[in-house]
Amino acid sequence: MKWRCMCLVIHAPEDLRLTEQAVSDPGPGQVIVKVGMGGICGSDLHYFNHGGFGTVRLQEPMVLGHEVAGTVAAVGEGVTAVKPGDRVAVNPSRPCGACGYCLEGLPNQCLDMRFYGSAMRMPHVQGAFRDHLLCEAVQCVPVAPGVPMQLAALAEPFSVGLHAVSRAGSLLGKRVLVSGCGPIGVLAIAAARVHGAAEIVATDVVDQPLVVARAMGAKRTINVATETQWVAEYSANKGSFDVMLECSGNQRALRDGLEVMRPRGTVVQLGLGGDVSIPQNMVVAKELSICGSFRFHHEFALAVRLINEGRIDLSPVITRAFPMAQASEAFALAGDRQRAMKVLIDFSAEAQAA
Ligand code: ZN
Repeated sequence: MKWRCMCLVIHAPEDLRLTEQAVSDPGPGQVIVKVGMGGICGSDLHYFNHGGFGTVRLQEPMVLGHEVAGTVAAVGEGVTAVKPGDRVAVNPSRPCGACGYCLEGLPNQCLDMRFYGSAMRMPHVQGAFRDHLLCEAVQCVPVAPGVPMQLAALAEPFSVGLHAVSRAGSLLGKRVLVSGCGPIGVLAIAAARVHGAAEIVATDVVDQPLVVARAMGAKRTINVATETQWVAEYSANKGSFDVMLECSGNQRALRDGLEVMRPRGTVVQLGLGGDVSIPQNMVVAKELSICGSFRFHHEFALAVRLINEGRIDLSPVITRAFPMAQASEAFALAGDRQRAMKVLIDFSAEAQAA
C-alpha cells in the first residue's frame, strides 16, 4: 500500500475532520484518481448540519462527497479505457448489475446500490471527498482538454437534471416551469434548454438564485414570496405549462404548479419534501401526470459530453472553491442561499499549498 490519502470524514453534525487513510493499489479494472474538485451537494450539507435527512442517520464516520472530477494517477490490470494523466469525471453511482432492476435496465433502482457518501445502508458507503480515490475504471468518463475541473465536477448534478427531463418526455417546443432554483433546479433549467424547451419560467423564494436561473436559460424568473399574482396569471384557460420540474420539495410550490399546468401536463418531482397534500380533483380533471425522478444512470456520460462539447455553459452555477483545510467554511457558505449556489472543495496539491 503505497498510496495515502487525505479525506473529509463526517463524525457527527458539524464535526467534519480531515483524516489520513491508506489507499490500496488499483486491482484489475480499477484506477486511482487524483481528485481535483468536489462539489458540495444538498445531501452532504444535510449530513454536515443535521447528521442525516429523513430516516437516514449517520451511524459511523463517513467520508462525504459524490460530485468529483480529477486526473487518473494509476491504473490496474486490464484497464484500457483510461490511462494515467487522463482527466475524468467520476460517476458516484455503483449499481450491482445483477439484481432484477439492473437486469431490467433500471440501474438507478438497484436493490444493492452503493452510492458514494451515503448512509442509507450499513456499513455506510464511503464518499469521494478525498485527494486520492480508488474506483472502477467504468466509473470514469474522460473530460475534454481545456474544460475546467470545477465544471467537470458538475457532471453528477447535471445528470440529475437530465434524468428528470427524460422522465418528462420530449421538451421540444414545450413550456416548462422549474420550481426551486438551488443547484439541481438551475441545472434542470440547463437540461431543459438543451432538450429544446421553447420557454422556461423559474420560481424561488429567494432573489439571488433567480439570477443564476436566468443565466442558465430561464426566460422569466419569479420570486413567489413577493410576486403573488403569478398563479392567477398562468392559470388562465386551465393553465400555461406543459411540464413542471419540481425541485423545491415544497408543498406550496407543488400545489401552485398544479394550478398553472395545462391539461395532460407532466409534473416531475425531484425535490424531497416528505408528505404533502395535493388537490386530487384538479389532477383528475386536468388529467395531469405526476412522476418522480431519482438520481440518473446513462445520463452521466451525456452530461460529460454536453460539458465537453460546450453545448451549455454551466459556469454561472459555480460560486467558489475552498482548499480541504477550509472545508468547514465551504460547508457554511454552501448552506447560505443568499450568497452561494455551488460551492466546491479543491483537493489539488496546489490548492493545499497556496
Ligand atoms: Zn442492482
